[in-house]
Amino acid sequence: MSTQDEQEARRLDAVDPVPVLREEFHVPPAPGGPYEEAAYFAGNSLGLQPRSVARYLNEELEDWARLAVEGHTQARRPWVDYHEAARAPAARLVGALPHEVVAMNSLTVNLHLMMATFYRPAGERTWIVIEDAAFPSDSYAVRSQAVHHGLDPERTVVRLKPRPGEENLRTEDVVEYLEREGRHVALLLLGGVNYLTGQLMDMESITKAGRAAGAVVGWDLAHAAGNVPLRLHDWDVDFAAWCTYKYLNSGPGAVAGCFVHERHVRDAALPKLSGWWGTDPATRFRMDPRIDPPASADAWQLSNPPILALAPVLASLEIFDRVGMDALRTRSERLTGYLAGRLAPISGLEVVTPPEPAARGCQLSIRVPDAAALTERLAVSAGVLADAREPDIVRLAPVPLYSTFHDCHRASVALAAMLG
Ligand SMILES: *Cc1c(COP(=O)(O)O)cnc(C)c1O
Repeated sequence: MSTQDEQEARRLDAVDPVPVLREEFHVPPAPGGPYEEAAYFAGNSLGLQPRSVARYLNEELEDWARLAVEGHTQARRPWVDYHEAARAPAARLVGALPHEVVAMNSLTVNLHLMMATFYRPAGERTWIVIEDAAFPSDSYAVRSQAVHHGLDPERTVVRLKPRPGEENLRTEDVVEYLEREGRHVALLLLGGVNYLTGQLMDMESITKAGRAAGAVVGWDLAHAAGNVPLRLHDWDVDFAAWCTYKYLNSGPGAVAGCFVHERHVRDAALPKLSGWWGTDPATRFRMDPRIDPPASADAWQLSNPPILALAPVLASLEIFDRVGMDALRTRSERLTGYLAGRLAPISGLEVVTPPEPAARGCQLSIRVPDAAALTERLAVSAGVLADAREPDIVRLAPVPLYSTFHDCHRASVALAAMLG
């Protein structure tokens, strides 16, 4: 074991201009190996628990015990408009105007609600374009939307593939496709950061090309929110949705986020699936059967917010707001660049994530012979927690809020020992 490399990693941790906030998180114990704490690289799957979450949750439990139904209006954070507390920090996180975002539901539900409004197949414009390496839930969701409209999913859903022999989509190929076939495309729905390869898409250019072709452009930001800076409003994105349990550290199944561009929130004629939390709160109890939606993303809400699932989202957003996504991104580029440099000389693995920092977030995906077995050995013999995607991809995400250069050192030493 090269102590010189280890010293260098410790030095980088000591001098990094954006300090790690590891102390603010519960880092799990290492399941094996020489260190007490795990080197946690699975924050792209489930982020670590902020220590502040317990306080946020306890306040809600106390208010529920103390106030019962009065908590709707009398709680420290009144429950009737609890989602309001997430609005400003969520808007800053994704580069939106406050009334363009809302915290609600789960990711796939939000994708469906957005498609109920924005997927309007008509004439020759019926196609939904996704990436071939789409997350299964997204594939199922778009196919079911096609079926819902009486269309054949095999013909309606187009899956964009990288060039033969390549791992990642090229922006110019996506743009060229939209120029060539755009008249058929009703909806372009890609991942901002691909869950498998870690590729960061050029969302601005692709959104522009998609809209120029007359398509609606939505983004699945499951792996982008909290990972990379976003400018959804300025990029003119039509809609987006993201979960909060990955980079946003809000706990398993936590409440998701949704973005609807300002130009749509004022359009009362858009068809929506509606519920009582989608009406103007001032007129909610007038019992008028016709809805009176506000000119905001809130108009897509259905139900009253799940307070216990939203409390951790507020705790987490407070941390992102304090550090700022731009500062986190600079730290993230240093951490991931360091890990990439340490993985480069190891024979027996191939990094499939793009090498350019501008084309990736923090995740590096490596191709190895047996991903599941390697991931298990990394955990048990080195305390390095990564995540396997069958058959041959291991994903390693150094998360700038809580991962260290020393964690990256541990991962590279363990991989070199097992593969090199
Ligand atoms: C994690 C992830 C999901 C998960 O969907 P849920 O509705 O939160 O269960 C969906 N899509 C993508 C691209 C993901 O990465």
